[in-house]
Amino acid sequence: RKADIECRIVVLGSGPGGYTAAFRAADLGLDTVLVERYAALGGVCLNVGCIPSKALLHAAALIEEASHSDDIGISFGKPKIDLDKLRGFKQDKVVGQFTKGLAGMAKQRKVRTVHGVGTFISPNELEVKGEAGTTLIRFEQCVIAAGSQAVKLPNFPWDDDRVMDSTDALQLADVPKTLLVVGGGIIGLEMATVYRALGSEVTVVEFMDQLMPGADKDLVKPLADRLKKQGVVVHLKTKAAKVEAGKKGITVSFESATEGAKPELESGTWDRVLVAVGRAPNGGKIGADKAGVVVSDRGFIAVDRQMRTNVPHIFAIGDLVGQPMLAHKATHEGKLAAEVAAGEKKEWVARVIPSVAYTDPEIAWVGVTETEAKAKGLHVGVGKFPWAASARAVGIGRGEGFTKLIFDEATHRIIGAGIVGVHAGDLISELALAIEMGAEAGDIGATIHPHPTLGESVGMAAEVYEGTITDLY
Ligand code: FAD
Repeated sequence: RKADIECRIVVLGSGPGGYTAAFRAADLGLDTVLVERYAALGGVCLNVGCIPSKALLHAAALIEEASHSDDIGISFGKPKIDLDKLRGFKQDKVVGQFTKGLAGMAKQRKVRTVHGVGTFISPNELEVKGEAGTTLIRFEQCVIAAGSQAVKLPNFPWDDDRVMDSTDALQLADVPKTLLVVGGGIIGLEMATVYRALGSEVTVVEFMDQLMPGADKDLVKPLADRLKKQGVVVHLKTKAAKVEAGKKGITVSFESATEGAKPELESGTWDRVLVAVGRAPNGGKIGADKAGVVVSDRGFIAVDRQMRTNVPHIFAIGDLVGQPMLAHKATHEGKLAAEVAAGEKKEWVARVIPSVAYTDPEIAWVGVTETEAKAKGLHVGVGKFPWAASARAVGIGRGEGFTKLIFDEATHRIIGAGIVGVHAGDLISELALAIEMGAEAGDIGATIHPHPTLGESVGMAAEVYEGTITDLY
C-alpha cells in the first residue's frame, strides 16, 4: 500500500512533550509530521490542564484577596461573578491565544499536522483516522507523546454530568452549591480552591493520611489550615465506596482507609462530585504492539536515558513514560528525543524535576523531601526560614509560609527544598538551579538576594542552616 505521507519523523500527540519534540526536530532539519486527534494543538496541559486551571486560579486569587482587604482598611463588597465572561477569559483570551500560537509555530517550521486518531500498523507505519478520512504515514523515526487521561473510578456514574473529571470541572458549567472533591492531590486541591472562591461549599476526601501526598507534611500544614479557615471540609484516610445519582444530588458513602475502622464521614449528598484520583497513561491505546513497542499493564512505555523505547527508532516521552506527570518534564524529554533522533549525542542529565501545587498558598518542592531522606536513612540537615520573619511576606498579609532547604550533612550541598507560601512555584526555580549546580549552603547564603523579597527567604534559610543567622531579624 502506498503511503499518503512519507516523512523522516512523526510525533504522535501534540501536548507539551509532542509539540516540543516536533518543533525541535523541524528546527534541526528533519521532515516532521505531528499527529493530533483534536483540532487544537497543545494537549492536556494547554487545553484542559495547566493553563486553564491557572487562569481560573487567578480569578480565585482575586476574589480571595479582595475578601481580605477589609483587614487593611479597603472594602470592595461582595464579588459579582459573570461566569460567561470568566469562561471566555479562560478559553478565548488565554487558551485560544496559545493554541493559535502553536498552529502558527508549526506552520512556520513546515511541520505538517495531521488531525485524527493515530494507531501503529507496523514498526514504520501509523494510520491516522480523522474527519478527512484515513491517512497512512510512513516514517523513519517516531516519538510517542500520547499523554494520559484522568482515572475514572469505576463505581461512579460517569454518564451523569454532575460527576466530573478535571476536564469537566474546568468547563465551569455552573457553580454548584455543594461540591465533593474525591482526591486531595494537586489537581483536586487546585479545583477545590477555584470552586470555593466562586462560592461552592467544598468537601475534600483523601485516601492517604495527608493532603498532597508526596510533599512533606509540614509544607502542607499552612495550606490545610487556610482551607479549614475558608470552610473547606477535609476528611483524610477516607475512601469513596458507594455512589448513587439521585434527584437531590450525588450521594456518596465512605469507608475508612484503615481496615475495620469507622470512616470520619459516613455519607453525604452533593450537587456535583469531582473525581481527581490520578491519571492513567495512554500507552495501551495506540497499537504499540504492532510496532513491537513494549507497554506495561498499566499503559506506561519504558525508555532509556535517550528516550528510546525497546524499538530503537521509536522514542516515547511525557506522561506515558512515567512519573512525575508534569508538563516541564514532558517538554525536556521532547527536546531530548528530537535531538537524539537528529543524531546528537545527548542523554537525560537533569538531577531533579520540581513539583508545584498552585493552591493558595502554593506548595513547591524539588529534589529529596525530608520524608524521603528519613526513609532512605540519609544524613541530612535542614535550614528553615519562617515567612513570619519576612517583613515583605507580612506586608502582603501572608506570613504563614516558610522556606526549607535540605542539605547533605557531610558536604553541606543542597539536595532538596520545599517552599509553602504565595509564589512558591516561582521561587522554587532558584533551588532547582542550586541543586543542578551542586551549590553548598555557604554559596546560597552568600548570594545577595534583593530586599525586601520573598526570594530572600532562600538565602536566609541557608544562613540558618550554616548558623550565620541565629535570631531572625
Ligand atoms: P498530553 O498533554 O496528555 O498530550 C497528549 C496528546 O496526545 C493529546 O493532545 C491527545 O489528544 C493526543 N493523543 C493521544 N492519543 C492519540 C492518538 N492515538 N492519536 C492522536 N492523538 C492522540 N503539569 C504541570 O507541569 N503544571 C501544571 O500546572 C499542571 N496542571 C494540570 C492541571 C490539570 C487539571 C491536569 C489534568 C494536568 C495538569 N498538569 C500540569 C499535567 C500536564 O498537563 C501533563 O503532564 C502534560 O500535559 C503531559 O504532556 P504530554 O505531552 O505527555 O501529553
